[in-house]
Amino acid sequence: MSYNSTVAPSLYDPSMDFDSLSWAEKQWFSWYSFIGNPVLATGLMSFLMHEIVYFGRCIPWIIIDAIPYFRRWKLQPAKIPSPQEQWECTKQVLFSHFMVELPVIWLFHPMAEVFGMRTYEVPLPSLREMAPQVALFFVFEDMFHYFAHQALHYGPMYKYIHKIHHKYSAPFGLAAEYAHPAEVAILGTGTIAGPLLYCYFTGNLHIFTMYVWITLRLFQAIDAHSGYDFPWSLQHFLPFWAGAEHHDFHHMAFTNNFSTSFRWCDYIGGTDDKYRAYASRLKEAKKMAGSSKEKQAEVERKFMAEAEAEGLRAEAEVIRSATQKTTKVQ
Ligand SMILES: [Zn+2]
Ligand SMILES: [Zn+2]
Repeated sequence: MSYNSTVAPSLYDPSMDFDSLSWAEKQWFSWYSFIGNPVLATGLMSFLMHEIVYFGRCIPWIIIDAIPYFRRWKLQPAKIPSPQEQWECTKQVLFSHFMVELPVIWLFHPMAEVFGMRTYEVPLPSLREMAPQVALFFVFEDMFHYFAHQALHYGPMYKYIHKIHHKYSAPFGLAAEYAHPAEVAILGTGTIAGPLLYCYFTGNLHIFTMYVWITLRLFQAIDAHSGYDFPWSLQHFLPFWAGAEHHDFHHMAFTNNFSTSFRWCDYIGGTDDKYRAYASRLKEAKKMAGSSKEKQAEVERKFMAEAEAEGLRAEAEVIRSATQKTTKVQ
C-alpha cells in the first residue's frame, strides 16, 4: 500500500511501500507528514523530547530525595536538597530551556541538513548501525568536556560563567543543566559537534541516532548529578564509567574529575590525583574507626568537611585571581 500523497505531497516518494515500515517508522512518517514542515517538525520534536527526557529522568531522583531510606547511599548524606531548592533550580532550568535552548534547537534542522544528516527520512537506522555511532559520540563528548570544563575553571571563565553551576556543592539531578547560558553553549558543543562531524565525514547519520544519543547523554548528566551511589550504579559494573561518585567529588572539593562519562581522561591527565588520594585516605580512616557504623560516618563527615573547606578556599582563590586580572585590565 502506498501512503496518501495528499497529506504530505513534498516529503515522501508516493510509491513508497508504507506497509513495509516498522511501527516506529510509521509514527515518524506520520509526525513529519502531519506537521508538513520538516524544520518545524524537527524543532518541536527535539524540544519536547528534551523536556520529557530531562524532567522525566529527574522525577525519580526527586522521589528518592524525599525518602529517608535511600540516605544510606547518598554521597553527601548531610546535604539533602529541600523542595524549595529543587523548585528554584527547576525554574532556572526551565528559563534557560525556553530562552537559550529553544532558539538553538530551532536552528538544528537547517544545521543538520547542511552536514547531510537524514531527518524525516524512513527507514530509521537499526540498533546495529546506531550502537557504534553512539559509543563514538560518548567518547568524543567526554574528551571535549574534559578540556572545556578545565577552561571553565580558569579565573574569569569561572567567575562569570561556571560559578553558577557550582552553586551546589552537593548536586542533585535537576542541577545537571543549572548553568550559565554561555556554559550551556560551550559544553553543549561537545554533545552536538561529535554527530555533526561524524555526519560530515561519513555522510551517514540519521537524526534518530542523535535522539538516542542525547537521551543517553541526558541520563548520564542527570545521574552524575544525582548525589547517589547505589550498589547497582553502573560504575560498579563498568569501572571506567564515572557516575555520580566521580562528579560529586568535583562539586564537593571544587577540584579534579573534569570529565563527564568516563574516568580515563582524568586518570591519564593526572586530574584525579586528589580524588584518589581522598578515597584511599578515607578508606584507611574508616578501617581505623572499627566496625561501628556511627564512628565510620563521623570520620566521613570530618573528611567531607575538610575537602569542602579546601574547595571553598580554592574557589575563592580562582575568583580573587579573576578579580585581579579585571582590575589590571581596567
Ligand atoms: Zn566545574
Ligand atoms: Zn556538575
